[in-house]
Formats: sequence, C-alpha cells, structure tokens
Amino acid sequence: MPEARDWLTEGLPHLWLPYTQMATATPPLAVVDTQGARIRLADGRELIDGIASWWTACHGYKHPHIRATVERQLNALPHVMFAGLVHEPAARLAQRLAALLPGDLDRVFFTESGSVAVEVALKMAIQYWRNKGQAEKKRIVCFRHGYHGDTFATMALCDPEEGMHTLFAGTMPEQLMAELPIDEDLGRAFDLLLATHAERLAAVIIEPLVQGAGGMQMHDAQTLACVAEACARHGVLLIADEIMTGFGRSGRLFACEEANVIPDIICLSKALTGGTLPLAATVARKHVFDAFLSDDPTAALMHGPTYMANPLACAAANASLDLFEQEPRLAQVAAIETQLRAELAPCADLAGVAAVRIKGAIGAVELAGAVDLDGMRRRFVELGVWVRPFGKVVYLMPPFIVSADELATLTAAVRRVLEERARKL
Ligand SMILES: *Cc1c(COP(=O)(O)O)cnc(C)c1O
Repeated sequence: MPEARDWLTEGLPHLWLPYTQMATATPPLAVVDTQGARIRLADGRELIDGIASWWTACHGYKHPHIRATVERQLNALPHVMFAGLVHEPAARLAQRLAALLPGDLDRVFFTESGSVAVEVALKMAIQYWRNKGQAEKKRIVCFRHGYHGDTFATMALCDPEEGMHTLFAGTMPEQLMAELPIDEDLGRAFDLLLATHAERLAAVIIEPLVQGAGGMQMHDAQTLACVAEACARHGVLLIADEIMTGFGRSGRLFACEEANVIPDIICLSKALTGGTLPLAATVARKHVFDAFLSDDPTAALMHGPTYMANPLACAAANASLDLFEQEPRLAQVAAIETQLRAELAPCADLAGVAAVRIKGAIGAVELAGAVDLDGMRRRFVELGVWVRPFGKVVYLMPPFIVSADELATLTAAVRRVLEERARKL
C-alpha cells in the first residue's frame, strides 16, 4: 500500500511516541484497519491483539452497535460545552453508571482520561474534608506496585521503584506509600499507618484486586475488604481506581463487587467506551457529593475540562453498556480465564519465569533476570500477535470477544517466546 509508506515516512519524523526511546526503539508499525480482535498493518500482515489497545477494546474493534450509535450522535450533536448545558448521552450515561455501580455511588463527573479522573478524585477527597472544616486532611495513602496515571499528582501515587516516573522524584507532592495488607502482620501495619496519620489523611487510593501498569500484581478480596475497613475505622476516604479493572476485566463488572466494598469515590475510564473514544468518569457516593452543597461558592468542585462529557464519547459508552446487557461479556471473561489457566499457567515451569498470575481476562507472566523488551516485542510481531511486555511482565488482556482459537494462538506465542528466552539463559 504505497500511500501508507508515504504518510509514514513523511509524518513519522514529526511524531513523539509514548514511553519510547526515540533514538533506538524499533520503528512503530503502520496500522490501516482494525476488526474484532485483529489489527491489520499497511504491509498486509494481520496481528491478533493480545492487549486490547491498552485494555480498552473489550468488545473488539469496530463493533457495529458502537459504530452506528456514534455515527448517529455525530449527526445530532458532536460536541457542546458542559457548563450550563447538558445533553442526553451524558445524562443517560450518568444514570446508567449510577445504577450499575454498587451502593450509593451515584454522582458522576466526566473527564477525558484516566489520569484526570484520578486528579478529580483527589480534588474531591481533599475538598470534601476542607468543606467539612478539616482542611489539614489532605495527604493520600497509595500502595507499592500501584499505578494511577502520568500527570504530576497521579505520578506521586505510583510506585517510585517501578521506574516509569523515578526521574521526577522531588518535584511531586509527598504521599504515603503503604504495603498492601495481604496478611495479618501487614494488616496491623496498615491499620497503624492510618491510625498514626489519620488527622492529616484525606484518602487511600487502591487499584482493587489487580494492580495494572505497576506490574500486574494481584491480591484477594479479603485484602481489599481489610483496606476498606481500616479506612472506615479511621475516617479516611477510599478511592477505588478501577480504570483498568472496571467493566468486566477482573471477572465481575467492577472488581470492588467481589469484596462487597463500596468505595467513597471510584474512577473509571479505559473500557468505558469500549475502546473507541476518550472518556473517563469519577463517581462519588452521596455523602461525598453532599459535602459540596453549601451557600459558600468556594465549596463547589472547581474543575471543568473543556471537552468533558463529549457527546460522541458518552454515546459510545452508552452503546458499550448496551453490549454488556445484550452480549455475554462476563461469560466470555470466565471462559478466557479458564483458557488462560490451562494454557498460560504452565509457563511457570520455564527457566527465567518468576510467577504466573491469572485473574479474569488478565494473564500475566512475571520474568526473572534481564528482559530484552524490544527484542521480545519484535518476536511477537513475527509470530503474528500484538503483545507488548513492559518492565518484567509479559501479559495478555485480550478483547473479551477473542475466539478460543485466537486466544490459543496468543498463549502459544507467549509460551514460544518464553521458551526461546529460557534456552538462552
Ligand atoms: C491507565 C490507567 C490510568 C491512567 O489513565 P490514562 O487514561 O492513561 O490517563 C490510571 N489508573 C489506572 C489503574 C490505569 O490502568
């Protein structure tokens, strides 16, 4: 396809790519089409997508229902500002999210990215206490291996040793980093941490059950419940960052459900629009929202991204929720989990593999020793799959509509690449 070569050679010198050493990295691949679980390249090759475009494309690419809904919305109302004006796609979406989320998580603030959704959650938590006359409660507790975004306030909540943001140490607000209370000793230590600092703590933020970009670490429902109980005991808000786990990825629609935990604030994004348009939501419980109701104008939430609640994105999200109702997504996630356990778990026996972790439609292999990320990524493309290891983790998080054959190709590619690596160790 000669046109693709033209736009690539002419445009690439002007692109700055994410998390990429532009001097040495393998050049990016030119994509011309996506369909289902497939990515089609300009040179005619087709890759099976093992990671659903950074975990967003839960229904696969170009689902006809989302396309038709967004097309209709494009003709009706592509965008309008969201202050003083509202529109049906946002109102319906807020109402539907409130109905799906546990408890009284029923007040939705829309933004356009996960990082900003977390920023808004932090603002809500800090201003909640200020509005209640406890302005000194403004620090945040976060967890080792956590990841909450790339903006400055969210970088301060990420594990500094996972490497994405070490460079910026010293330029960010100092928060408290805790160990997840995965056993009784750590439970007591966590309780003591909250007890010691409660007077200055606004909130604890956690990725429930699965910590994603910080290393695909998993913990059980009891650990999550223990965090929630400690927060309640010490008067600290709980923020659940379900940007990665939300919308079925962990096996339930929301990971918090598994522990019967109702966080005070929840952040959603990635799969919210089924991977079609950027949108995020920060949803607060009633008591959080009520703390902002006052005669005092400075008690209002002072935030408002220009493109918040974009109607196209809200329409896509509504269509995505339709699909969760109409198609057997959670059953597909359960089937993916079963297949990952059968086909990926045996990687644990290979040399150079530290652990295999599986939860819902997430399969992660943690490696030991040096990892040639660029080489592995190239090898996966040669094998016809799109799998992009990071840090020490090779993982699969496919679209939920992936077929059993496609998933078998993905797991076989992971096994093969790890076997090739094991032979060289
Ligand atoms: C991806 C992610 C974010 C950041 O979302 P962006 O849209 O990339 O800003 C925050 N938290 C978690 C858990 C994520 O997985």
